[in-house]
Amino acid sequence: MIIGLYPGTFDPITNGHLDIIERSARLFDHLVVGLAINRKKVPLFTLEERLDMLNSVMPPSSNISIDHFEDLLVNYAHKRGVTVLVRGLRAVSDFEFELQMALMNRHLDPNLETVFLMPSQKYSYLSSSTVRELASFNGDVSDLVPALVEKKLRAKFAEKNT
Ligand code: ADP
Repeated sequence: MIIGLYPGTFDPITNGHLDIIERSARLFDHLVVGLAINRKKVPLFTLEERLDMLNSVMPPSSNISIDHFEDLLVNYAHKRGVTVLVRGLRAVSDFEFELQMALMNRHLDPNLETVFLMPSQKYSYLSSSTVRELASFNGDVSDLVPALVEKKLRAKFAEKNT
C-alpha cells in the first residue's frame, strides 16, 4: 500500500494544485492532501476556510483524504505511514528551492522519497500568490481557481475593503 502526501499551504487551492492532486491520486493507493500550518506566514484565509475549500473542491475520488499538520513534515509523514512526498514543479524557478527541500527531507528520513509532477502547461504560471494579487484588484480568476474559491476570494476582499 503506497501512501502519498501532497503538502502545501493552499491559500487558496488553485486549479494547478487540483491538477497535481488528480495526477497523484492515480499514482498512489492513497493520497493525503496535507495543509501545512506555517506560523511564520500570515495567510489570507484561515485554516478553517482553507480546509473547507479543500473539502468542497476535491475530486470525487475515494482514495483522497484531507488533513492538516503543524509537525515537521517528515514526522507527520511517518505518523501517517506516508512513503512518498509529492511536489509540483512549474518552472525552473521552482527547482532550486524544491531540490533543497527534497534533499533535506531525504537527510532526515532516507526512506521518504520525493517525486515531482508537472501540471498541465496552462497552469505552469499559476500560484496562489498571483491569484490573491489578481483577486485583490478584482481581476478575473475564473480560469485559475474553482468557482467556489473565486466566490470566497471575492467575499474576502469585499470584507477587507469595507
Ligand atoms: P504556492 O507555491 O502556490 O504558494 P503551496 O505552498 O500550496 O502553493 O504549494 C504546494 C505545492 O504545490 C508546491 O509543490 C508547489 O510547487 C505546487 N504548486 C503550486 N501551484 C502549482 C501549479 N500551478 N502547478 C503545479 N504545482 C503547483
